[in-house]
Amino acid sequence: MLSGGLDAVFAPDRIALIGASDRPGTLGRLLWDNLRSFPGEVVPISRSAQIDGVPAYADLADVPGTIDLAVVGLPAPHVLGAIQAAAANGVRAAVVLTAGFAETGEAGARLQAEIVAVARAAGMRLVGPNCFGVQNCDTPLNASIAPGAPAGDDLGGVSLVTQSGSYGMAVHALGLDESMRFAKVYAAGNKADVSDAEVLAYLREDPATRVVCLLMESITGGPEFFAEARRTAAVKPVIATMTGRSAAGQRAALSHTAALASDERLRSGALAQAGVARAASGQQMLDAARLLTDQPPPSGRRIGVVTNSGGLGVELTDLLHDHGLVVPELSQQLQTRLRELLPEYGGPRNPVDMTPIWSRYAELYPALTDALARSGEVDVVLPIVLARAGSPEVVAGLLAVSDALRRDDIGVPVYACWVAARSFQDQADELQRGGVPVLPWPERAAAATGLAVRCAAALGDHEADRPRHADVPPHDHGDLADPERVRDLLVATGIPCVPGESATSADEAVAAADRLGYPVVAKVVHADLSHKSDVGGVRVSLADAAAVRAAAADLLALRPGARVLVQAQAAGLEVVIGGLRDPAYGPAVMVGLGGVLVEVMDDVAFALVPITPRYAETLLRSLRGAAVLDGVRGAAPVDVAALAAVVVAVGDLLVGIPEITELDLNPVLAGPDGAVAVDVRLATAT
Ligand code: ADP
Ligand code: MG
Repeated sequence: MLSGGLDAVFAPDRIALIGASDRPGTLGRLLWDNLRSFPGEVVPISRSAQIDGVPAYADLADVPGTIDLAVVGLPAPHVLGAIQAAAANGVRAAVVLTAGFAETGEAGARLQAEIVAVARAAGMRLVGPNCFGVQNCDTPLNASIAPGAPAGDDLGGVSLVTQSGSYGMAVHALGLDESMRFAKVYAAGNKADVSDAEVLAYLREDPATRVVCLLMESITGGPEFFAEARRTAAVKPVIATMTGRSAAGQRAALSHTAALASDERLRSGALAQAGVARAASGQQMLDAARLLTDQPPPSGRRIGVVTNSGGLGVELTDLLHDHGLVVPELSQQLQTRLRELLPEYGGPRNPVDMTPIWSRYAELYPALTDALARSGEVDVVLPIVLARAGSPEVVAGLLAVSDALRRDDIGVPVYACWVAARSFQDQADELQRGGVPVLPWPERAAAATGLAVRCAAALGDHEADRPRHADVPPHDHGDLADPERVRDLLVATGIPCVPGESATSADEAVAAADRLGYPVVAKVVHADLSHKSDVGGVRVSLADAAAVRAAAADLLALRPGARVLVQAQAAGLEVVIGGLRDPAYGPAVMVGLGGVLVEVMDDVAFALVPITPRYAETLLRSLRGAAVLDGVRGAAPVDVAALAAVVVAVGDLLVGIPEITELDLNPVLAGPDGAVAVDVRLATAT
């Protein structure tokens, strides 16, 4: 098992609480109280002789026998000593709640580095510092300052990894209020030792964890984290809420790719590629987690809506649409069957509208929900439980339907969109406790359903798991400053490049054009003129020798030492395909629409490499303007597979040749029969 010592954190047999206290209001007291529910032994380490009648030790070194987990709640200046004692005593893991380390500045960072060094030298894992602690709700173990989870409820299995302590506690409290059960709670704090990737690996293997929720400010260990996230999202839903999404530090860069690669873009690209669904808020994340733990995962995005109000049905339909879901019109056959159930003025098309016929709610809500779920025409059923529909009878009926569907192995989940006065809250709670998740109002219901559907789509996708890269061909890529060598390298890697020849005089340019065939394109080549069109350095549609001669003369005059590149003229949709090596995320590719307008259009998407051909296509299709790939205004559809192959090859180049730092193919001209690069820009680390 890939536990990396985290089993000592989540499943210790014996714990030492370093800094235990019985003085009310202290951290040592709070931790002592919270650890009370732990079924194993908790040894207090304290200046007092005893805590609550339990004999305390002054020093961890005096404790006989083995300790698995040390929980440290001492003031910062005493933490190093405690970690040294724990390390000397063979303790396997420590959770340091104390603040005052790297988050406070340089002195704190030094102290933090010291405690990590001590822990690592002893093979002891360290959680925190500056965190609110960890919980294992099944044990129960509450080594945190948050109140513990309620026990004895077998729904749930949500594990929460949180970086921000207080936000994490707020999300946790919200989950408890809405009778959600957690499996593991892990506050990462300063992440001094254990990485995000390790925590994910642990939760992936943890049978009690059914859904993973990540509440993060930053991702550490980029490439390993995303590899782990891919593996995890294929077997259980992973939902992330990232705070600080708007940060968009643009860097000085040679290529369009690097200029457009903000941290947020790389992060969101990498999360999407890994199959991690991104929630807009903590509440949305918990809502979706509830849907995925209480009901089977949806196997598609077709939603059946049951309502007694036309207006709310339409509102929910619109909102579902905003979240990428569809509310399909039902087949005539199914409509006929539903019409038999519905009152005369009811609507069977979807939303299925029973009208406010409250005398029949108890019968119609369950019957319509059941019929839709078994129809094979929708992947989720969302009854809108409105006003008087929130009765004990409707609730009992919906619970019975949900149970029957599970019994009959119908994998269509039922979520209730609840729109009723507070006085109906008991029924909502009952529905929820019974396993049909309750989402107040259409907005929250639509957002959570959209997220759940996206999460579920990644399940079982083991192909996305392990993209392989092709080795780049053996090639003497000694001088990547030479455009000819770059072109040779691209061609050898399988990236089609438009035929072209370099010339140093107008005569040479004309001879080249004669060989290539008209029309041709002529462009300036000079180290200072990276963006050629900006200086009038690209001349297209040169139809004859005279045009080439004149253009070449102009271009050669742009700068002393300039050369002219004469190219065959290609045609097609202008696509940018780029690559970069990010210090935090590793090698990545970008795709986008726009050619010289790429920054203006700002329609780009990123993914980490190596990348599979299938995901490269998904990435291209994720662009806002992706419809142009299928041909608009009479244009033939573009060969998307050929474009995807270029994306894959760019990824392979970045993986295979570490000195490449940035690469722009802008544009690649894409047509119905393939794609060809006409402009290449490459930067290497020197
Ligand atoms: P730069 O990006 O440095 O300005 P490019 O070589 O990309 O220079 O040329 C600018 C534009 O000219 C391209 O976006 C494309 O529209 C057009 N172009 C360049 N080369 C060709 C070619 N061989 N065939 C057709 N169009 C081309
Ligand atoms: Mg260009």
